[in-house]
Amino acid sequence: MTVKKDHYLVVSAGTIQGVFPQVPAEFAGLEMLDYTGHLVIPGLTDLHIHGPQYVFRGLSMDRELLDWLNFRTFPEEAKYRDPEYARRAYRLFAQDLRQGGTVNAVVFGTIHKEGTRILMEELEAAGLRAYVGKVNMDRNSPDDYREETEDSAADTRAWIQETAGAFSQVKPILTPRFLPTCSDRLMELLGQLQREFALPVQSHLSENQGEIAWVRELCPQADFYGDGYQRFGLFGGDVPTIMAHCVYSGEEELLRMKERGVYIAHCPQSNTNIASGIAPVRRFLDMGIRVGLGSDVAGGHSASIFRTMAEAVQVSKLRWRLVDQTLRPLTAAEAFYLGTEGGGSFFGRSGSFQKGYAADILVLDESRMPYMEELTVAERLERYLYLCGEKDILHKFVGGRMLF
Ligand SMILES: [Zn+2]
Repeated sequence: MTVKKDHYLVVSAGTIQGVFPQVPAEFAGLEMLDYTGHLVIPGLTDLHIHGPQYVFRGLSMDRELLDWLNFRTFPEEAKYRDPEYARRAYRLFAQDLRQGGTVNAVVFGTIHKEGTRILMEELEAAGLRAYVGKVNMDRNSPDDYREETEDSAADTRAWIQETAGAFSQVKPILTPRFLPTCSDRLMELLGQLQREFALPVQSHLSENQGEIAWVRELCPQADFYGDGYQRFGLFGGDVPTIMAHCVYSGEEELLRMKERGVYIAHCPQSNTNIASGIAPVRRFLDMGIRVGLGSDVAGGHSASIFRTMAEAVQVSKLRWRLVDQTLRPLTAAEAFYLGTEGGGSFFGRSGSFQKGYAADILVLDESRMPYMEELTVAERLERYLYLCGEKDILHKFVGGRMLF
């Protein structure tokens, strides 16, 4: 993390030109916005969030993953077959993201193609950059929330074609929910769609021990959980891929992810709430695996990536103290990196103030957080991660455009 005090951040044509102690002569004609005294940071990236789960965040937090899915999540997601319901709920979701620090989001929808299109419309209207996925699931799901295999692929194809070119900042991403809900045949069809449309992929991986044992039974041919995705061409390499969680990924799985450039979305709040465990992020970083942060609403209850940063530090300390003392805890600066450039790089040049990056900028408001003695800039940022609320952002810019 680089800190500059009382400098000028120069932006033109939606792109960062650099950070300078004085405005260079070539930029002297640009309009000046004065945020003296405020923290100014790159916009944040949420690599893993479920749009339809936003409205029930904070509920059923006493259940573990598979139980939580069946009891709360699947019945709620089934409601998005109604476009009117989807519109109202997704508007709440998108407007909340707009008010927070997230600039880029990678989002799960539901199995419904119309509802998922509505989710894309709402995110675009909110001014955010996003990848959005129509979820696929053809097994181990309730009758009213399950697709027939061929219909699932046909709907996904129609959704890709119907939304192609419809949005400037929102793009589709293939989204098999996870291996337990996707038959081999469906995965094969999704692999074909991936090759045809060159789409990125998102899913879940090695989150919970019961889930991993189940995948072993369902996919006996796979060497390990992640290999079950790779067999269908949906696990990195030429295919930009995000896998959420990876709490229990073994050595082989992690090496494969590193080799194939698969991103891990680390979701500390969700790992805590649904009692999955604590992902070894220090290990991911030491191995050189690409990592960003996910709120995983509604496994996570808050969509704030600031809060996720603080929690990434906190859970890493518990892991270090209770599980494995060879993996030192994350620092605030490392967590900040994960929530900015770490995840932002999935979107290209986002999450940094280096020249050529998108002008994704947050101006922070610390007025609710008084202090007695002068703090350094880095101390103010650390404190902000722990103390800020949803309303403590003064201004937000996406690609140079001011949202507020
Ligand atoms: Zn998830």
